[in-house]
Amino acid sequence: MIDLRSDTVTKPTISMRKAMMDANVGDDVFGDDPTVNELQQLAADKLGFEAGLFTCSGTQANLIALLSHCQRGDEYIVGQEAHNFKWEGGGAAVLGGIQPQPIEHEENGSLSLKKIKKAIKPINIHFAKTKLISIENTHHGKVLPLKYLDEISKIAQQNRLYRHLDGARAFNAAVKQQVNIKEITKYFDTVSICLSKGLAAPIGSILCGNREFIENAIRWRKVCGGGMRQAGILAAAGILSLTEQVDHLQEDHEHAMILGESLNEMPEFRVDLNLIQTNMVFARLLKGDSDELSVYLRKNGIIVVPDENMRFVFHKDIKREDVDTVIKALKDFFTK
Ligand SMILES: *Cc1c(COP(=O)(O)O)cnc(C)c1O
Repeated sequence: MIDLRSDTVTKPTISMRKAMMDANVGDDVFGDDPTVNELQQLAADKLGFEAGLFTCSGTQANLIALLSHCQRGDEYIVGQEAHNFKWEGGGAAVLGGIQPQPIEHEENGSLSLKKIKKAIKPINIHFAKTKLISIENTHHGKVLPLKYLDEISKIAQQNRLYRHLDGARAFNAAVKQQVNIKEITKYFDTVSICLSKGLAAPIGSILCGNREFIENAIRWRKVCGGGMRQAGILAAAGILSLTEQVDHLQEDHEHAMILGESLNEMPEFRVDLNLIQTNMVFARLLKGDSDELSVYLRKNGIIVVPDENMRFVFHKDIKREDVDTVIKALKDFFTK
């Protein structure tokens, strides 16, 4: 099957499975698992932080970051469509009494600096205490300019706010911008990265920060039920995510653009090619029914989520010839 629903569907590589089989393990709740420790240090070094923490999921990494930075009655500024506002079950509010202050995204995926400044609350007994700005990069496949990250960072620092990056796909941004990922992460106090999306690990994310932050975060991970035991089995795959799986992201981006350009030529879709910057294509269906289309595609070995604004996500398990298969199936659906 050609599965375009998400890059979370990637299967672990042969070398990952072998590394998992051979991994040295220990009890990570005691800090004894050598493979987890290796992954955490490797991630911290690559992202330019003192320390890293292996977590069960990106949702857990983001939640731990918020619980570590903020107290009950604090507030974080976040995008209205951001994963850690909209797609994480309201965890920060549910478990931490932390209030989100959502802000509408601009078309390029950023949050307006003006709107952020306006949302930061003065110290006053009526208001929650604004403590943190959370930025998502990439957001819906869009990459935030480095200059923008610098500006956000300055606003946060001027207002004594923590800066968290939900960098689930930050490596896609770095590959697109052709920069070392540190050029992105250096603007943040903490960063979460998904190993289990385009980077192909079966499970897991990484949260990075300074040593003091991570020591506190270990406690919150335990509270969240994320203290794992012989987790080196999983970390072994995560190490290969960081060492073997970053380079192919470039190909995923090329495949996305090839599909985007073809859809753009079809009268049944409207695509803004400027918004295809990494591994995602969003295409508005102008004609026909997305449920029927998805049923037809599935019969032809292609899986998509039916939606009027269809999302196609590229990843290492989609090969160049698969892109042609998808284009052909879409054309056939409309001509039959
Ligand atoms: C996928 C994703 C996450 C975390 O997802 P999990 O499924 O919990 O690993 C967080 N933020 C963004 C932007 C994501 O795309």
